[in-house]
Amino acid sequence: MSNTIRITVAEGDGIGPEIMESVLAILQSAGAPLEFDRVELGQRAYLKGHPTGIPAAAWEVIRRNKVMLKSPITTPQGGGYKSVNVTLRNTLGLFANVRLCKAYTPYVQSPYPGMNLVIIRENEEDLYAGIEHQQTREVTQALKLITLPGSEKIIRYAFEYTRAYGRKKVTCMTKDNIMKITDGLFHKTFDRVAREYPDVRADHQIIDIGAARVAAQPTSLDVIVTPNLYGDILSDIAAQVAGSVGLAGSANIGWESAMFEAVHGSAPDIAGKDIANPSGLLVAAVEMLVHIGQPEIAQRIKNAWLVTLEDGIHTADIYRSGLSQRAVGTRAFTQAVIDRLGRVPEQLEPVSYHGTGIHFTLSLLPPAQKELVGVDVFLDWSASHRDPLALAKQLEVVQEASLPLQWITNRGVKMYPDPVAGAYATDHWRCRFLSANSRIDYAQVLSLLQRIHAVPLEVIKTENLYTFDGEAGFSSGQGE
Ligand code: NAD
Repeated sequence: MSNTIRITVAEGDGIGPEIMESVLAILQSAGAPLEFDRVELGQRAYLKGHPTGIPAAAWEVIRRNKVMLKSPITTPQGGGYKSVNVTLRNTLGLFANVRLCKAYTPYVQSPYPGMNLVIIRENEEDLYAGIEHQQTREVTQALKLITLPGSEKIIRYAFEYTRAYGRKKVTCMTKDNIMKITDGLFHKTFDRVAREYPDVRADHQIIDIGAARVAAQPTSLDVIVTPNLYGDILSDIAAQVAGSVGLAGSANIGWESAMFEAVHGSAPDIAGKDIANPSGLLVAAVEMLVHIGQPEIAQRIKNAWLVTLEDGIHTADIYRSGLSQRAVGTRAFTQAVIDRLGRVPEQLEPVSYHGTGIHFTLSLLPPAQKELVGVDVFLDWSASHRDPLALAKQLEVVQEASLPLQWITNRGVKMYPDPVAGAYATDHWRCRFLSANSRIDYAQVLSLLQRIHAVPLEVIKTENLYTFDGEAGFSSGQGE
């Protein structure tokens, strides 16, 4: 066959093989120009001794084809096994997780008829970088990493997705009223990229009120783009609120590769019984078709599926007497969708997809002028009843005129000068040395650290303070 696209197919475990058979039959009947390379992932691979559940032969096919449709996998109990999904995400750089949360009322019950939102979650950065340290007996920390290219990639993807799926609005959710530098970078990048998509409405909401709206007024939202941790929490709230977890598909998108799957698991309790609903995987396969530039076929399948729901032909998991017309198994449901190819729903909103797939490039920003202007020195210190004045006295002795001690904080709370009344102190102190008006040399930082070490005080880490094009690249002290 010419002009066909080869995709990797992983049948998975439990109900995986039967729902995959159903979805492939629908793709073929709809005339999707696809060829399928099957790979064995999951339980059988784990049991053959592959700790990631992905044998080398499967990797070769996955990397070559770049696009993959995957059934759920049973993760064996007990230690030593790595999640297939985490391995795929990390190895293939799948930076975006996309989850459609939609209500199909009145055919499938949901507390929010009309809900139809997509959550696009950054998948690689933020607190999930896993960089954690215990620094003192009392204090631990996790590093929250938000990068310019990481933010731009996910935000551009969200705007391109919005166009490809004929949607109207992208809402960015962050907490940049508190995290002005990390979440601030995400928000600023959103504002910059949004200007290049004048046909798409763009707004920003603080994540706490945004999450409340996902839970209580989800119909006011269309596409949400957000950093990793917020997105993780939001996508579970939204899936529950939509009331259709069994019908939800999920896409994991990378720069080169992409993986599409159902949101649900391998359902071993109903495996092999011709009961499973193939809809989650089918919805994911529709997203895959749009991604690879086959919007007409994607639209044809999705509309036939909506007609099937509308005709009340339902698998047991969504069957409700009074709402449903006919209870069917996996195979009969599959045939019902195939029989309806070419039709559009009358009550549920038909879908309409556009474009030639989702492609974009990142912008090249001019390099900024970066200057070192100070240092935050973190100390493990519990002496002198943790009296900040006693610590400040020792540090004032070692400071130099061009790099003076500006303040000391504990858990971000000002302790010196002008301590916040009633604040309690841990054993973890941040001491800021900041040049009043000029750049400094890193050798000054090293010699300051040597003098602090000689006091003796225990330095546990430092953070250099830089300006970028004259703007501070560090948060100010509380109250400044
Ligand atoms: P599950 O989603 O497999 O099952 C939860 C309940 O939903 C069960 O009663 C099941 O019968 C039902 N169900 C799920 N999908 C259905 C479908 N398509 N049609 C009809 N009913 C359906 O969740 P679980 O029981 O917690 O997990 C089972 C296994 O799946 C575990 O090994 C878990 O690790 C794995 N899992 C894999 C993935 C993945 O590969 N992406 C995701 C989640 C769970």
